[in-house]
Amino acid sequence: MIGFDEALALIQREVAVLPARTCAAPDAVGLVLASDVCSGEDLPPFDNSAMDGFALRIGSEPLAVGAELDVAGAQAAGDTHAIATSGAWEIMTGARLPDGLDAVIPVEQVEVLVRDGTDRPLRIRTTAVVEPGQHVRLRGEDVRTGACILKAGTRIEAPQLMLLAALGVAQVQVRPAPRVALLTTGRELVDDPTRTLASGEIRNSNGPYLAQRVRDAGAQLVLRETVSDDADAFLAALQRALAAGAEVVLSTGAVSMGRYDFVPDALRRIGACLHFHKVRIRPGKPLLFASLPGGQLYFGLPGNPVSSAVGLRFFVEPALRVLLGLAPERALRVPLAAAFNKRAALRFHLKGGLELDQHGQLQARVLPGQESFRIAPMAQANCWIVLPDTAASPAAGAMVDVYGLGHWLPPQLDEVMT
Ligand code: AMP
Ligand code: MG
Repeated sequence: MIGFDEALALIQREVAVLPARTCAAPDAVGLVLASDVCSGEDLPPFDNSAMDGFALRIGSEPLAVGAELDVAGAQAAGDTHAIATSGAWEIMTGARLPDGLDAVIPVEQVEVLVRDGTDRPLRIRTTAVVEPGQHVRLRGEDVRTGACILKAGTRIEAPQLMLLAALGVAQVQVRPAPRVALLTTGRELVDDPTRTLASGEIRNSNGPYLAQRVRDAGAQLVLRETVSDDADAFLAALQRALAAGAEVVLSTGAVSMGRYDFVPDALRRIGACLHFHKVRIRPGKPLLFASLPGGQLYFGLPGNPVSSAVGLRFFVEPALRVLLGLAPERALRVPLAAAFNKRAALRFHLKGGLELDQHGQLQARVLPGQESFRIAPMAQANCWIVLPDTAASPAAGAMVDVYGLGHWLPPQLDEVMT
């Protein structure tokens, strides 16, 4: 039986990043950039006013209260460039600053001395000091032409889309979503939620859970089937998964030591290369990882619901990260709320609650109900607490590794945590 680190190294050895493809920026949401994006434009594209008010020319010295100026023109958002030779210009927020002017006084800080028949200001007096450059948004102040605005490995979400849109970036290079198939095995499984269970039957909970987790992880689910405990039926479903273009095939169940645990032998029969079967972890020890003859990856996850969840989170998701071009994850280090009795020299993956102590500081609590068949605590957990196989039982306050339920973090945090 191998340890977790060795298992992960074997997975990483077999996985390569997917080839990049070009995609329209709005279609890239949920995908990961394959190359840095540099700006071809300045943002803002021109000097403009941050306020509704009057644009002036004051140079490098403040302008004292009580200055009187004629209003020489008006600029609204969308107006083309204008040249100012004298006086003040009425200006609206976002309007292009007329050439020759360099500061804006807000409308609330002027007194209008003269208006024309249509109520336009003709002459104003300032009622506050005007500082050099005030209320002017300079061209390129946000982003300069040529600046790298998004790095390879960034997941595109709404904030990134906003920036791409602001800079007129129509297309980006991304990694495609990895194509994943999911086979749930077990003759006891019932998929139809409206069916009454017959004696010995259980509902398939791994299927919907893992299907959603796969999508949450940034992959595309190309096939999901439930198969009975029959090697030929299983291999037929596997062929359909590969025909659907799966690059990664997941199965649950039939990988332990029972009489009906046919997955390892069935895979050997079709010439798969088994890299490992059984890892020093809890739950989910009998996990299997193989390469199929066509180069696809195969993860045989154990059938117990929490074991299958751990297999997906800590073995499949790291592989998906490689395919997506993401750096390996790092854990958050958080103090444990209460001591935990770790009874085996295995790497533990515990349903955890990340919570605030009375000082508002994060702490991690091992939730009750850690057995791998228990599904109810899964709906209470908001993190995984991971204890290395070599570690002793941690005391209250000991720093432990905490991972999110899924591998995505907000991009800025992602940079810190990888
Ligand atoms: P197995 O690894 O096939 O021996 O399954 C281990 C345990 O997990 C058994 O109690 C199965 O009934 C249960 N199990 C297997 N597959 C599923 C599934 N898709 N949903 C819920 N429980 C399952
Ligand atoms: Mg089974």
